[in-house]
Amino acid sequence: PLKDYVSKIGICDVVVVVVPIPAQGHLNQLLHLTRLIASRGLPAYFIGTATHNRQAKDRVHGWDPSTISNIHFQDFQIPEYITPPPEPNLSNKFPNHLVPTFEASLNLREPLGVLLRALSTTYRRVVIVHDSTMSFAAEEASFLSNAEAYCFNPCAAFSTLYYIWAVVSQTADEEESLLQLGIPRLSFEDSTTQEMSVFLARNKAWWSFRTGDLYNTCDALEGRFINLIAQRQLDKKLWAIGPLNPIAFDSTRAPPHKCLEWLDKQPPNSVIYVSFGTMTSLSDDQIAELAIGLERSEQKFIWVLRYADIGDIYKEKEGKAPLPDGFEERVKGVGMIVRDWAPQPHILAHSSTGGFMSHCGWNSCMESLSMGVPIAAWSMHSDQPRNTFLITEVLKVGLVVSEWAQREEPVSSDTIESSIRKLMVSEEGNMMRKKARELGVAVRQSVSEGGSSTTQLESFITHISR
Ligand code: UDP
Repeated sequence: PLKDYVSKIGICDVVVVVVPIPAQGHLNQLLHLTRLIASRGLPAYFIGTATHNRQAKDRVHGWDPSTISNIHFQDFQIPEYITPPPEPNLSNKFPNHLVPTFEASLNLREPLGVLLRALSTTYRRVVIVHDSTMSFAAEEASFLSNAEAYCFNPCAAFSTLYYIWAVVSQTADEEESLLQLGIPRLSFEDSTTQEMSVFLARNKAWWSFRTGDLYNTCDALEGRFINLIAQRQLDKKLWAIGPLNPIAFDSTRAPPHKCLEWLDKQPPNSVIYVSFGTMTSLSDDQIAELAIGLERSEQKFIWVLRYADIGDIYKEKEGKAPLPDGFEERVKGVGMIVRDWAPQPHILAHSSTGGFMSHCGWNSCMESLSMGVPIAAWSMHSDQPRNTFLITEVLKVGLVVSEWAQREEPVSSDTIESSIRKLMVSEEGNMMRKKARELGVAVRQSVSEGGSSTTQLESFITHISR
């Protein structure tokens, strides 16, 4: 099919090289994007270490990467950490394995350069799509006359505005443009670490080498923030092409998982799904409070519970989180604890799921928003507090469980119980669910035929194929 396609429209003299950063949410988004690009007939390289490429392939939902022949996974041998893996951090703050992993991924630069030089002699044009934190790839592209780089922003446009303001330009004008939209100053520094700031500052030095930007968001969600970014970066092209995750699932081909079978037996909108992504480990005290809050809320739940590891479920240590005595017995039939990799998008797409308690990683937000599920927001770090603001204050499809700044003490079971009740069984919660359902329709519309994101993706493909 690729050959036919190429001979028909003659574009296969272009090759795309996708450069993700090895964090699950980022890998997922860029692999989805690779699928979308490859399905338009362009050959694509997805680069990383063997482990991270496997992590991406094994954990992407809704399609099978091995069935798309023009995606090539390029395994490079580089260390996965610059130092031995750090000890787990259970204080709900920034995961301490993250920066060492990111630093190590800078070692991809050399083999990437070799690959790009080889491809640039074979193909008329080499297009790099790199994660926003892997901007060295854009500088590598600048060394070649027939290569150019596009930055993929895995965050909300809203959140990227804060990055631009706090890290890239740091001007009063940026602050003013946010204030004009009625958006308060949300601290950038407090939700990250000194090490991460240093990493971002270094990344910033290479950012200007890119030709344009891609966003995993859509006009229906963030039109005014997308416009604001476009206005201040007139020299860069911008395409908002999200959501990238599949928005419809063939239920007959859903991955077999006990929680989906259980969901099939529950009434509509009756289950709250609880998950904090792949990088956050809760302390034992916090796990206990959450268990009590869930039980007392008397709502049905699916809880993805991970235990002290180095922060990444893919390398999870042996061990079981200590739940309150008798908890699992007492909640039998009411709740389900999932300790393996949950089919999150399928859970969110299920009609029995009525709410999502989430750390507000951007993937989780986009998956929830595209399935029309309101969010009880419990952000931990990075862009999550700003995503929480977007969900609760701007889009108004969720409520705040806990302000991230108050994170020294565990969030109490009382707060958790009342947040769950409010989202699942109050009038206010029903309004949020109604609004989320409506927004979900608009988001899915964006990626259907003629929708804004589909149109922009086609425009990007045409642009890089020209
Ligand atoms: N995810 C999943 N099953 C799990 C845990 C996570 O499918 O058991 C997926 C989830 O659907 C999302 C990604 O992992 O696509 C997590 O990304 P997000 O940006 O929400 O959070 P992060 O892990 O990057 O903090």
